[in-house]
Amino acid sequence: MFVSVSGLAKSYDTGVVTPVLRGVDLQLDQGRIGVILGPSGSGKSTLMNVIGGLDRPDDGSVEVDGQRITDFNDAGLAEYRRDRVGFVFQFYNLVPNLTAGENIDVVSNISRQPLSTGEVLSAVGLSDKKHRFPRELSGGEQQRVAIARAIVKNPKLLLCDEPTGALDAEASRDVLALIQQVNADFGTTVLMITHNEAIADMAHSVFRMRSGDVVTATHNAQPIPAE
Ligand code: ADP
Ligand code: ADP
Repeated sequence: MFVSVSGLAKSYDTGVVTPVLRGVDLQLDQGRIGVILGPSGSGKSTLMNVIGGLDRPDDGSVEVDGQRITDFNDAGLAEYRRDRVGFVFQFYNLVPNLTAGENIDVVSNISRQPLSTGEVLSAVGLSDKKHRFPRELSGGEQQRVAIARAIVKNPKLLLCDEPTGALDAEASRDVLALIQQVNADFGTTVLMITHNEAIADMAHSVFRMRSGDVVTATHNAQPIPAE
């Protein structure tokens, strides 16, 4: 099992102790696309942040590619984030005063076995926009640059938190097709949070969360292409 989450629990204490993850179990095979669906506040981002090594649980374990990352110290976790995981967020998070190519270079320069910036820009169909600044790109193009930046480190795991949440229908389709293409071409395992039920059709595995737990996990033999 490529991603194996077991008994994951986390609470926030803001005067009142509120459980956010209540013993979550989740299993995703290598090379698959998994989608996490569920209402706002059900714990999706917290779960993904723990899997991505951005946050720590109170209890339970996460294994990724045979490594129990919940046992890592801070330095080990930072290395895991840097070398193994690509992150894509709803609001692109590009550096505004760097060009598309430079935004990607920043990550490739600190990566152990990076792909080339030219290769990933070509993979996302933006070779001709390497010298554009984020403000000179559409929302969909900015998200494609963010995907290129996430994959330039050649990650084993690509984590996407509402990657189409800020995009119109057409740009959303492009971004989803691109994520499927990355999965197919680079063999990257993908875990993606979404509110959009339709996106479940393109996933190999669908995890539905409610009140801090995964309540159903279903597996599609034949995911439907986004295009
Ligand atoms: P989702 O992604 O499904 O919308 P989240 O994981 O973002 O859910 O949040 C789950 C719950 O945890 C929410 O009720 C949210 O208010 C709470 N929460 C998230 N982060 C914090 C935090 N840093 N401090 C306190 N509560 C938080
Ligand atoms: P470190 O502690 O080693 O600086 P970070 O968590 O700051 O580690 O970043 C490591 C990697 O995680 C970065 O290369 C980046 O790809 C990804 N990352 C983490 N948080 C974000 C974010 N908010 N936006 C974009 N990428 C992020």
